[in-house]
Amino acid sequence: MKEFAQLELNEQLMQAVSAMGYEEPTPIQEQVIPLMMAGEDVFAQSQTGSGKTAAFALPILNTISPNQGYIQCLVLTPTRELAMQGASAFHDFGKGGNFSVLPVYGGQAYARQITRLQKGVDVVVGTPGRLIDLMKKEVLDLSHVQVVVVDEADEMLSMGFIDDIKAILDATPNSRQTALFSATLPEAIRQLGSRYMRKPHSIQIEDKHMTVDTIEQRYYVVDRKQKFSALTHLFEMENIERALVFASTKISTEQLSSTLSARGYQAEVINGNLDQDARIRVLNRFKQNQIQVLVATDVAARGLDIEDVSHVFNYDLPREAEGYVHRIGRTGRAGKTGIAITLVTPKELWFLKRIEKFTKQEMTKCEIPSAEDILKKREADLLERMRIWLKRDRCAKEKELINVLIEEGHDPLEIAAVAVKMARADEKQRPVESFSATTEITHRKSSKKPRSNIHPSNEEGMVRIMVSSGRRDGINPSEIVGSIARFSNIPGRSIGKILIRDNHSLVDIDARYVDQVLAKTGQIKMKKDSVTFKRA
Ligand code: ADP
Ligand code: MG
Repeated sequence: MKEFAQLELNEQLMQAVSAMGYEEPTPIQEQVIPLMMAGEDVFAQSQTGSGKTAAFALPILNTISPNQGYIQCLVLTPTRELAMQGASAFHDFGKGGNFSVLPVYGGQAYARQITRLQKGVDVVVGTPGRLIDLMKKEVLDLSHVQVVVVDEADEMLSMGFIDDIKAILDATPNSRQTALFSATLPEAIRQLGSRYMRKPHSIQIEDKHMTVDTIEQRYYVVDRKQKFSALTHLFEMENIERALVFASTKISTEQLSSTLSARGYQAEVINGNLDQDARIRVLNRFKQNQIQVLVATDVAARGLDIEDVSHVFNYDLPREAEGYVHRIGRTGRAGKTGIAITLVTPKELWFLKRIEKFTKQEMTKCEIPSAEDILKKREADLLERMRIWLKRDRCAKEKELINVLIEEGHDPLEIAAVAVKMARADEKQRPVESFSATTEITHRKSSKKPRSNIHPSNEEGMVRIMVSSGRRDGINPSEIVGSIARFSNIPGRSIGKILIRDNHSLVDIDARYVDQVLAKTGQIKMKKDSVTFKRA
């Protein structure tokens, strides 16, 4: 095992590494850094989270000189997040070295990118689509590039960027150094490598999480239509600290997140539909434990620095067996036990077997807890909480209140029963879903039950706003909750009663968040149309 000191990085980089708190290089860094410093081409395969960014950023920063006035290094990444994360890593490592680093991705104004490019930058970290656009505009000069890194190459491939990558590589000098990083190495990537690399060194790091030892893996066989209610049952029974839920499409991530929010869980989405700022805010809120559940697509979650969740739910199966390992690797870190739960339909069981073969581990088959189990668990939890309070004996004020009722002649058992009933009112928000063939359909419309109320009322602490979309636009309550919560970045809980009228809707918002919502007027789309908000 090498130490950073043995890697012959310059003084400034050694300081940056220790400022980052890195004590020793990760296996991939240990192997890749010396090769890249020697100018060799590399193929590097290691799992997500193994430190690939520093494995290329450090040797590159050690080699190039700042302020040459042209692009010396180009890093290709599949998504905007990764472009930003990559650029900020170069920035952090290059601190004190005066390197200029530019992230380049779609959705950002061209003008700023072009101005920066014209001033001259040392390192560009970008997504293929935008880089191609800039090449077409003839503002991206790649003729002095010395090093190209293709990061998350497998993801690039499955996103269909292969031709873009080739076009970009063709625009760089043949003498360049090329490094390709990937969590998996499908055949197409090897081919890309053999065409564009010179005697590449292949570095493969045994995937520790492949053994997924510390993860409890379970699976539940459910019909497709029962998946959502199965999920809500599991949410009730598991002690979830932070959960990552994977779904296969953007639409289903959104449906899941709105319906989970409507049931009182702090759930938000990470998918390609969120604008850049919203995605970063969501990720930060999850890291800071302000959100309990993140519902994501593979593509949006890939490579993001999300770790240490208590549960990973595979609401839909991943497309590939490798994907399963990447997903569940987010839990069970640092010696803790994590739980990975997979929902599988009878037709998909063959694929589950394939995953088991791939991980060389069996998942445990379990039964979805019944409605009765859940009610029992709720009762047991309630009694447990009450026992704790009874031990604490911290209810002097409450006792005074109860005494008022006792003096009025009420029976203490009756009073206690009423108090419990009131304390459990929030459970109404979480009706226990039964397993019926219609679950999915009921559910789409369902947030009606807890949310919409035909009688307008202004509860204390809530402010009513008018939303310019109504029944005629086909809007429904769960969509309103979902869109407002997500795009104005407020918890689903802070949205109260919803009244849908023909051409507008009335929505109660927690007063603390109302300005945050009003600020988004005209910026949020529901059913494809932008909607406006104003105080009702
Ligand atoms: P990958 O690209 O392989 O998915 P990253 O480069 O994003 O992994 O690194 C994952 C996390 O590990 C980051 O938070 C990074 O700062 C951290 N990290 C990288 N190298 C080291 C190291 N040598 N020691 C400690 N932490 C590291
Ligand atoms: Mg990475």
